Amino acid sequence: MKFSVAVTLLFAALCAGKKSYDGYSVYRITPRTERAGNFIQELSENVNFGQSLDFWHESRNLGDPTDVMVPPRYKALVEDFLRRRHMEFSLLVENVEDVIYPQAGGCGTDSTDPAFYNCYHTMDEIESWMDGIVASYPGIASKEAVSATFEGRTVSAIKISGPNANRPAVIFQGGIHAREWISPATMMNIAKMLLDDHGVDTEVTAIIEHYDIYIIPVLNQDGYAYTWTDDRMWRKNRRTPSSGRCYGVDLNRNWDVDFGGDGTSTLGCSEVYHGVAALSEPETSGIDAWSRALQASTGVEVFIDFHSYGQYWMWPWGYKVGLPHTPDHNDQMTGGETAAAALGNVYGTQYTVQRSASMYAAAGATEDWAYHSLGAKYSYIVELRPTSDAVGFQLPENKIEPTGIETYEGVKALLKYTSADENPIAEKVAVLP
Ligand SMILES: [Zn+2]
Repeated sequence: MKFSVAVTLLFAALCAGKKSYDGYSVYRITPRTERAGNFIQELSENVNFGQSLDFWHESRNLGDPTDVMVPPRYKALVEDFLRRRHMEFSLLVENVEDVIYPQAGGCGTDSTDPAFYNCYHTMDEIESWMDGIVASYPGIASKEAVSATFEGRTVSAIKISGPNANRPAVIFQGGIHAREWISPATMMNIAKMLLDDHGVDTEVTAIIEHYDIYIIPVLNQDGYAYTWTDDRMWRKNRRTPSSGRCYGVDLNRNWDVDFGGDGTSTLGCSEVYHGVAALSEPETSGIDAWSRALQASTGVEVFIDFHSYGQYWMWPWGYKVGLPHTPDHNDQMTGGETAAAALGNVYGTQYTVQRSASMYAAAGATEDWAYHSLGAKYSYIVELRPTSDAVGFQLPENKIEPTGIETYEGVKALLKYTSADENPIAEKVAVLP
């Protein structure tokens, strides 16, 4: 056996078990007309290959590109589909395996090291960070169990609460989609900055005295752990299949507003498989029960679900395109604009502020549940960095802290605005439009 062959075999053996994306490509399709938008929808529903496509980003407006990852065996078919319809498309990533960074988890567990907040962490590291930060800020930070996962992990939030406890709740939820690593990293940065600034910055102190803030770094813990060990591009939770071969439910299609509607799939192998019933998953049903109890006791006024990527700040409705505005549209929009303006002031990062289902609908998603079912007036879905470069979910580590800092400024401005709202209770929508 030649040395090079031996090395190759050894390397293959070491890598065995980890999903390879060798030969997978990401296509960027830019819809310029409504008709082109419909073709993208048809692509996702194609009976031959729709289930095998993985949409990294869906067009939110005309001109906003859709990025879709295609396995090698379907590339010719997809290209043919696009060419026949004269769609504008390009190859964004030729070989996805080439852009997946080595994931050494090499920035350690010492949260007093400034580098700690500028790298991605494993699930275990995030858990021990939570214990550590809560211990470092006694009297203001505590850890609270808020949900559970399919594999039996406990989902926790950091609760930040001033001397007047039992104030109206603000909930920041990170990591519902496993591969969107910037979301948990941003939750960690925001928690750290809020705690550091309490008692130092008068605005932050006022916000923390007005609200109880709950920060959930990672909701989909099973999926997140799996992205480190087995498959960097994993999105769903890790429910075992009852039939068929595919694991996982898309938790952001499993909530109870228009469950099973547009932008979801009944097929277990789809990346947007909605599960057997609304709130069928322990992750979503746990958050539903916990936050409803909170709503009944202190009220929940703000709920933000953090995703990546695309740089969007959005509010309901998300389940169908073309619906009338929510009864709280104007205040929700002003809140989003306030947040995006403050965010943009830091480094010039541009966010698009709009209703969620402007062009692309997702039924059973968090923002509609948090608004309609939970009753949080200021319910948002935020798509963090990046926007239109080639890195997708692999936002480089040197962008983690800047993303944290600007998003922190965004949520601070939002909470300053919402805490001045004299009528922060959601207008009731008895029947969905
Ligand atoms: Zn997402």
